[in-house]
Amino acid sequence: MKNCKSIDKKYVANTYSRFDIEIVSGKGSYVFDDKGKKYIDLNSGIAVNTFGLCDKKWIDATTNQMNQFQHVSNLYYSAPGAKLAKMLCKRTGAKKVFFGNSGAEANECAIKVARKWAKDKFGEDDYYIITLKNSFHGRTITTLKATGQDVFHKDFGPFTEGFLYADPSNANELINLAKSKKCCAFMFEMIQGEGGVLPLDKNFVSKIVDYAHRNDILLIVDEVQTGNGRTGTLYAYEQYGFTPDIVTTAKGLAGGLPLGATLLFEKVEKTLGYGSHGSTFGANPVSCAGAISILSRINSKLLKSVNEKSKYIFDSLNGAKGIKSVSGMGLMIGIETDEDSSVVLKKCIENGVLPIKAKNKIRLLPALNIPMNTLKEAVKIIKKCAAGE
Ligand code: PLP
Repeated sequence: MKNCKSIDKKYVANTYSRFDIEIVSGKGSYVFDDKGKKYIDLNSGIAVNTFGLCDKKWIDATTNQMNQFQHVSNLYYSAPGAKLAKMLCKRTGAKKVFFGNSGAEANECAIKVARKWAKDKFGEDDYYIITLKNSFHGRTITTLKATGQDVFHKDFGPFTEGFLYADPSNANELINLAKSKKCCAFMFEMIQGEGGVLPLDKNFVSKIVDYAHRNDILLIVDEVQTGNGRTGTLYAYEQYGFTPDIVTTAKGLAGGLPLGATLLFEKVEKTLGYGSHGSTFGANPVSCAGAISILSRINSKLLKSVNEKSKYIFDSLNGAKGIKSVSGMGLMIGIETDEDSSVVLKKCIENGVLPIKAKNKIRLLPALNIPMNTLKEAVKIIKKCAAGE
């Protein structure tokens, strides 16, 4: 669009510090800017475009649904939401699903469920939720407060009360916090994505899971970023050997359309009753049709290829010149560089590759079906940029 940047700057709220690139089209793992420059997309819209841009099967599924009806009120039954909820339950063991439109909304629902569950079971004051320092759970007033980073706790107060923060590497600190207040849930990401692509330690997780089980405290896992095949399993918690009580997800679920889901397992399956929660756009049929197309293709063959590509990235970057460390799981990867990551990122962009940042790291979140040769080309460029060549 002519003057897109100046019009955006003038009329769109100043909340995003954008790169100086206008994307005009995309196909698979490539995007093109308004000057015709081609980039390898290594962030897929921050873990949203699960099968890349303009994936044919996804377009067919969503346009098919659009040709039937684009939206109906949740006052009526409609097939896409029902079918998707069944698929999610069958694949995870969850009993019920609440659909919203974003990660923050999925987490809001999880928080409401945990509090109501505790109120129904133990009475009024069991409302504390322990989250982890350095976490990220969203930008609504409540999910900002659930986020364990002080930087998010200014300007917008007063915030929702009842959140406590524990160090992600110190299970005893978390357990002591849980003993100090009436606590209904622990809430955490298996890999802190915005926090710098930091997977939780397995020992830490097993200790807090064990404490929660012994003390009737709910386990809420935020899989907004890690979910839907991103880490090499359908959900990342599977790799930690426990079953949560509530799982939230969004981002890649519908492959590029807004959809959030809160998966409710046995303990909390009956917590929400008629009128206790809702969302006008929740379970939007087009988003759900997109999600059905995505979820039905996140199968063992795809997950195997995600793990193979992950191994390739780790093997290629670990120990490479200018690279201090590589963290993450599956195709959610953080790279710590000798040079300032903003400088390395700028070079990557100049060289036609689009990763993003997570704290002081370069973060890779490519489409799960990125072709191996495209990935190899991108990794080669990242290595070159990190090495300062
Ligand atoms: N939770 C996690 C772990 C996230 O990474 C994000 C977004 O980055 C959110 C919640 C918020 O999701 P949304 O931006 O869809 O509200």
